[in-house]
Amino acid sequence: MRDKIKSNIVIIERGFCMKGFAMLGIGKTGWIEKEKPKAGIYDAIVKPIAVAPCTSDIHTVFEGALGDKKDIILGHEGVGEIVEVGSQVKDFKPGDKVVIPAITPDWRTMGSVRGFPQHGREMLDGWKFSNIKDGVFAEYFHVNDADMNLAHLPEGVSIEAGVMLSDMVTTGIHGAELANIQVGDTVVIIGIGPVGLMAIVGAKLRGAGRIIAVGSRPALIDAAKYYGASEIVNYKEAPVMDQIMEITNNQGVDRVIVAGADSNILKTAVKIVKPGGVISNINYFGEGDTIPIPRLDWGSGMAHKKIVGGLTPGGRDRMERLLELVKYKRIEPERLITHKFHGLEKVEDALMLMKDKQEDLIKPIVYIE
Ligand code: NDP
Ligand code: ZN
Repeated sequence: MRDKIKSNIVIIERGFCMKGFAMLGIGKTGWIEKEKPKAGIYDAIVKPIAVAPCTSDIHTVFEGALGDKKDIILGHEGVGEIVEVGSQVKDFKPGDKVVIPAITPDWRTMGSVRGFPQHGREMLDGWKFSNIKDGVFAEYFHVNDADMNLAHLPEGVSIEAGVMLSDMVTTGIHGAELANIQVGDTVVIIGIGPVGLMAIVGAKLRGAGRIIAVGSRPALIDAAKYYGASEIVNYKEAPVMDQIMEITNNQGVDRVIVAGADSNILKTAVKIVKPGGVISNINYFGEGDTIPIPRLDWGSGMAHKKIVGGLTPGGRDRMERLLELVKYKRIEPERLITHKFHGLEKVEDALMLMKDKQEDLIKPIVYIE
């Protein structure tokens, strides 16, 4: 229970208190104090070394994407140091540096058995930070099932890369996985924020031929070329549909990955994908009870144009695989970071950057010490 308010900090509970930057309600953020979390027998308590705010934090706070949460600490991307482990944790100990996946599933669930740990007992419940429990923008945070969810940060992998793996890299690559990209495919990636940029990387790793990136801000366009886009389409200059059909001689494309725009973009995606192609959505659609699928472009239901969408995988195995990509220089996620802050209190400024998306922003990082 909230019991007193002192110099802008809302004190939630007594005991050993820690500070965190929280969602106080839809549209409201602030610093709160809470009791330091405790580790269950399989869990870990971690203190952050570096964290990053996400566009998803913005959807959470300002659009109520996860409901009207009260006094829940934000943040789900980071690298940290373990300070405590439960009695049954075997592979981690205090002092270890670890990558924190944004998605930390319950592995003993039927969803996990079926291959969808993101949806263990119910849809999206693998997403725990700032959804089911407090997130990482705090002096300490709790990680469930440490052996299954944490990954050691290996020698030779930077903290910055580790933080970008938490969510940006895994989500972007998941876009390419969901699109089931085949060697030589022509792929359109709509939206080239940090997620879309990592989808370009995923498309390239899976062997895409032509990679067409859709965005407008010059900093993102430069990064898209750096990461492997063969062409850029500026959605502010003319309808994306027209531009793609023109540059593909009206043939359309094999795969579309959606990593930006609102759900109306599906009209474009369904139009430009060839029969038999795949539209892979990793974007958050925040409005409307339904999403539009254009009937004729979808072959009146018979075009074999598949539409899939998913929350990124998380957990230890996923992170360790991505760490291999960094270690052996297949990907370079550090290039995403355009803004650097120092001190936990700066997560507030960094989060607001994600809200306002100034011209030169791709992704901020906050070093805690
Ligand atoms: P950004 O806001 O940084 O990037 C969005 C991109 O979309 C920008 O390139 C922007 O263009 C472009 N865009 C905006 N409007 C349009 C339009 N009408 N047509 C075409 N392109 C457009 O977002 P992030 O990369 O950080 O995140 C992308 C999405 O991924 C978010 O919705 C986020 O919540 C979601 N997400 C999903 C996860 C998952 O597990 N599935 C995990 C993490 C994030 P411009 O160059 O003009 O800015
Ligand atoms: Zn995120």
